[in-house]
Amino acid sequence: MSESTTLEGVRPAAATAQSQTRRALIKSFGCQMNVYDSQRMADLAGLLGYGEAGGVEDADLIVLNTCHIREKASEKIYSELGKLRELKEQRRKAGRRTTLVVAGCLAQAEGAEILRRQPAVDVVVGPQSYHRLPELLREAEVRSGVIDTDFPIEDKFAHLPASPPEAVARRGVAAFVTVQEGCDKFCSFCVVPYTRGAEASRPAGAVLDEIGRLASAGVREVMLIGQNVNAYHGLDRAGRAIGLAGLIAAAAGVPGIRRVRYATSHPIDMSDDLIAAHRDVEALAPYLHLPVQSGSDRVLASMNRRHRVSDYLGIVAQIRAARSDIALSSDFIVGYPGETDADFDATLDLVRAVGYASSFAFKYSARPGTPAAEMDGQVDEAVKAARLAALQALLEEQRQGFNGACVGRRLEVLFEKRGRREGQVVGRSPYMQAVYAEGPLSLIGAMAEVEILGAGPNSLRGRIVSPAS
Ligand code: SAM
Ligand code: SF4
Repeated sequence: MSESTTLEGVRPAAATAQSQTRRALIKSFGCQMNVYDSQRMADLAGLLGYGEAGGVEDADLIVLNTCHIREKASEKIYSELGKLRELKEQRRKAGRRTTLVVAGCLAQAEGAEILRRQPAVDVVVGPQSYHRLPELLREAEVRSGVIDTDFPIEDKFAHLPASPPEAVARRGVAAFVTVQEGCDKFCSFCVVPYTRGAEASRPAGAVLDEIGRLASAGVREVMLIGQNVNAYHGLDRAGRAIGLAGLIAAAAGVPGIRRVRYATSHPIDMSDDLIAAHRDVEALAPYLHLPVQSGSDRVLASMNRRHRVSDYLGIVAQIRAARSDIALSSDFIVGYPGETDADFDATLDLVRAVGYASSFAFKYSARPGTPAAEMDGQVDEAVKAARLAALQALLEEQRQGFNGACVGRRLEVLFEKRGRREGQVVGRSPYMQAVYAEGPLSLIGAMAEVEILGAGPNSLRGRIVSPAS
């Protein structure tokens, strides 16, 4: 079945009287992959006749597309479910039905445990089986507590309907496209290989068809995403192997596409051709999210990251040689089991050596079933908090420094939406910064050169200096 095929057994239900009053809310937690999956679930709900709800208050179908990466993320979902149970009960008394779905990585990891902790949940569906949502919702009409956390052999993407052009246009001019899923790296701290399953790449033709449809509906920037996107190894239309560098070049060639990005990358998969793409593919934005997690070789080995600090610094040097203005970002974990003050200092040293444009830092969170959760030397919460604060202060200083250094430069901005003030539009620089400028709404979807006049804590301010194109 092609991606544009209407789902088997699912009639576009917009015409029925009931369908016009039913609304769905798909709430996304966690990573970009979940944002993408949520959009695809919204497309499915649309086919089932659900309109878009503005909030939980007017939603008949509520899907929480969950994250399980850290304990906090999971606990947040249970507390949200508690509130939704009350809402569902009030509505039931008023004679109105509410269907509650838990999707995503928490669903995959905890399955029936979710129903035990919160029996108000109607459906639990994992990230690899959400294309079956229509059948699962039908089943939930006749029995409670439907679970599907299989890793089905059928290709989820082949069973998903194409996003309607109106929905694509509503979502904006920059879009995510999942090209790779799952992970075989098994870093000692991480749940992803268990919740998202083995690494798999979509065929390049299917990805490019999807990008073509997005571009026709007004998308100008695509971010190719995957848990390990640079491990992408698909087949092209002729059945030949193609890596991420080839896919980026092909995506850049899709008519209408002006800018391409990709995330998230593992250092060991930064191949020479991918590094060269930063030099050769003009539409590839000079921004790379390359998580290193720690600046200590001892910690990296214990994390099973399969590279040393010197390898990482070598890759950074190669990338900077290919594209001198590239902006780098990373993820860091502090307080990993066994991390000493000296290990943490080595992380600060690495940050100083690289110089990041922006980054994320997290306190290590022990995840059940992962090797690190069983390791000796679990670090005290107070120590983790102090290290996090110190690292975040350094990263913030670098971010402000990077933004400040953009003042006076001319940057190409792709305008995405209206700004906060009347007569203002906002877009993204090549380095992912939000840039505000005075200009008409007709600029949305266009690129223009902007002279940067000022840098605030979270955005840049500028003046358009070239005609939009
Ligand atoms: N595949 C990417 C990579 O190799 O770097 C990372 C994907 S993971 C979904 C996003 C980030 O969450 C990781 O880079 C890591 O910093 C963080 N993370 C994962 N497991 C964690 C844990 N148990 N505790 C704290 N942070 C964690
Ligand atoms: Fe998790 Fe990334 Fe490691 Fe895979 S490579 S196990 S997604 S941190």
